[in-house]
Amino acid sequence: MKISGIELIHVLPRYTILKLSTDEGIVGYGEAVLEGKSRTVEMAVKEYEKFLIGQDPRRIEHLWQAIYRQNFYRGGPILTSALSGLDQALWDILGKSLNVPVYQLLGGAVRERVRMYKHVQGETPEALAESAKKAVAEGFTMVKTTLAGKAHILETPAFVAREVERVEALRAAIGNGVDFGVDFHGRVSPALAIRLAKEMERFSPAFIEEPCLPENIDVLVTVARATTIPVATGERLFTKWGFRELLEKQAAFVLQPDLAHCGGITEGKKIAAMAECYYAAIAPHNPLGPVNLAASLQLDACAPNFLAQEFVQLGEGYLKRPFVVKDGYIELPTAPGLGIELDEEALADKIYPGDFTNMRWFHDDDGSVADR
Ligand SMILES: [Mg+2]
Repeated sequence: MKISGIELIHVLPRYTILKLSTDEGIVGYGEAVLEGKSRTVEMAVKEYEKFLIGQDPRRIEHLWQAIYRQNFYRGGPILTSALSGLDQALWDILGKSLNVPVYQLLGGAVRERVRMYKHVQGETPEALAESAKKAVAEGFTMVKTTLAGKAHILETPAFVAREVERVEALRAAIGNGVDFGVDFHGRVSPALAIRLAKEMERFSPAFIEEPCLPENIDVLVTVARATTIPVATGERLFTKWGFRELLEKQAAFVLQPDLAHCGGITEGKKIAAMAECYYAAIAPHNPLGPVNLAASLQLDACAPNFLAQEFVQLGEGYLKRPFVVKDGYIELPTAPGLGIELDEEALADKIYPGDFTNMRWFHDDDGSVADR
């Protein structure tokens, strides 16, 4: 079997579907995108085309090594996102060629269904509580929210009180039998993160996510040691090398590799195995499209240290058979490969040029740049 073509389709709101064709008629899908840089990743994929055409798509590890190492310049968000989309498509092809789901090729399922967590939102405590109650009524056993807005490098007691009141309302709304995470989104400084975490501890969040940015792991260690709340991070880390220091320094307990950015299913499986050595969990990041969700579910099925899966959509309007969440879980996919079929007709009116741009935040008082 030989790779015969690569096509990328940008679809709204900000997804990019990669189609890898073969001379035997099998087509593999992957999600090759970096939010806000869709066209840059598209170009990176296109630059591998000359090498990939004619290669045997079943030699996944070999092609991964060639794509990653023969750049000379390795890693980073753009190149690794391009590699991730290709890797997902290669696994899809291999599964389809053998007529088995991808997780069967990665050691087989270690669970019967996959726990999903839902985003809940609301700027005020009341709105957040309402959103959370709805999710619990739908059957979710875990939810996640983000901080309400921008944060200065240090903040007032009023800011801290507002965020803590939201978390208090969230816990009251869901009760003690449901988990919640709080995504700090790398918006706050380590000093402020420690203060927020201290106040939030009494409501027992399952984790705080990106309490500060992961560019300086030692700082993250300082935050992690200052709180009993498990720290989660990983959506902005790439490949096994990106997660190595995080694990060695025990800076986080919940690892959140994004299979569209971290190096694909191949690398996600290795990161999960590295995390096992530290008794750490994985909760794959995915605010992206149905193909990345499908890829993530394959890893979730076979990773023993899996906690819960993030999602924002289930494939309605993209897939012929969208995923179904029942009582907060998705049943293991049984179709070959990634187990999905695109609904080309429904996709047609979502095709766009890939010019999605991330929102920019500036502080209201002095106009300086705020992290979001
Ligand atoms: Mg996040």
